[in-house]
Amino acid sequence: SRCNKVGIMTNNPSVKNTINAFIQRVKDSNPNEPEFLQAVDEVANSIIPFIHANEKYRGNHILERMVEAERIIIFRVPWVDDIGNVQVNRGYRVEMNSAIGPFKGGLRFHPSVNLSVLKFLAFEQVFKNSLTTLPLGGAKGGSNFDPKGKSDNEVMRFCQSFMTELFRHIGPNTDIPAGDIGVGGREIGYLFGQYKRIKNEFTGVITGKSLSYSGSLIRPEATGYGCIFFVVEMLKTKQQTLNDKVVVISGSGNVAQFSCKKAIELGAKVVTMSDSSGYIYDEDGIDDEKLNFIMNLKNNKRGRIKEYTDTFDAKYVANARPWSVSCDIAIPCATQNELNKEEAQALIDNGCILVAEGANMPCTPNAVRLLHSHKIAFAPGKASNAGGVSVSGLEMSQNSIGYSWTAEKLEERLLNIMKEIHKQCVKYGKGDDEYIDYVKGTNIAGFVKVADAMIAQGV
Ligand code: GLU
Repeated sequence: SRCNKVGIMTNNPSVKNTINAFIQRVKDSNPNEPEFLQAVDEVANSIIPFIHANEKYRGNHILERMVEAERIIIFRVPWVDDIGNVQVNRGYRVEMNSAIGPFKGGLRFHPSVNLSVLKFLAFEQVFKNSLTTLPLGGAKGGSNFDPKGKSDNEVMRFCQSFMTELFRHIGPNTDIPAGDIGVGGREIGYLFGQYKRIKNEFTGVITGKSLSYSGSLIRPEATGYGCIFFVVEMLKTKQQTLNDKVVVISGSGNVAQFSCKKAIELGAKVVTMSDSSGYIYDEDGIDDEKLNFIMNLKNNKRGRIKEYTDTFDAKYVANARPWSVSCDIAIPCATQNELNKEEAQALIDNGCILVAEGANMPCTPNAVRLLHSHKIAFAPGKASNAGGVSVSGLEMSQNSIGYSWTAEKLEERLLNIMKEIHKQCVKYGKGDDEYIDYVKGTNIAGFVKVADAMIAQGV
């Protein structure tokens, strides 16, 4: 077997057996949780060889402890709809790991939400937050509530009911939620308002707040901007820039919008965006005016991406994802498992050189394996979408000192954090052939900080 620069045995059969046995144990104790298992499988494949090669992490069951959430709260969320009917949803908060800081992670409101999805997201959040250089533990929560088609009042009543249970489990030094899919500025406002009424205190208990009530500048932009900053760092290792690159983006929510904005600003041509019904292909590129149209359409009118073609000259492809469009760079910003092996093959065939995840785990394991085997630069979301939670961390800092920093200062700190994350990925992910395995780099760098803290704090 071969050792790379950090002394990791890659093909050792006994290490392979250890990995397989570990994954089987996790599977047995977490039945019917495919998304969680998918996330654990990927991490185990990076981390177990590393543990094997590093005395310090052997024999203390660190990874076994990390796949068991510190605490999971599941609760009933009853609310009354506009016609007076009682509705019931299920609410969750998965508090995965608080070794390096208070639990931190978003809330997702989407019909696909279940325990498996939230455990996968919380598990990934632990590694992501560790990479940010900030003291943030990992968590995730949400509900199977679907905000789509609901009135503002229904969303408000749902959020108030959700917080009426959640409030007792969170706090500015305990667990700090934020947004994710289906939870934007509107939902954060209602959730914060209810927390404040119940607790009678104004603190930084939630991030992603609006500016008028102690939110942070650059927080809306942070995930998308951070993702593009990370792409720029990846391109630098190939002596390339974003200028004139053709970029394919999926999704049309917060991450997609601000990835698009920063990519345009740095000279790239963004040709697609999508929603769950289909994608638009604009051969001339989405410019600032067209992007403003999309932002208004999605954020204010809550419309569908198809409506873009009513105003601008573009193709709409229904019931499809944009991965067959020829591009240099692909940035999946919609949701988990939205880019499979066949789609990765199409990207490669059409000349794509780089894939960076804006969403959490949008590429399937087979897609990632294929990209790796073709030596395509691939950034996992844990690294490339960490900008969002990073600026959430900076929002917490501002809230606790009762002060706000300028947009310039925040964007500079975000840029520096993304550069630092990239540096850590290179440190642990660069192989003998100079190819950077960002998956391995992300997982090992994220693991080391959390593991050191867990060891220091005892069992
Ligand atoms: N939901 C975002 C993520 O996946 C942000 C979480 C946060 O700001 O706490 O990282």
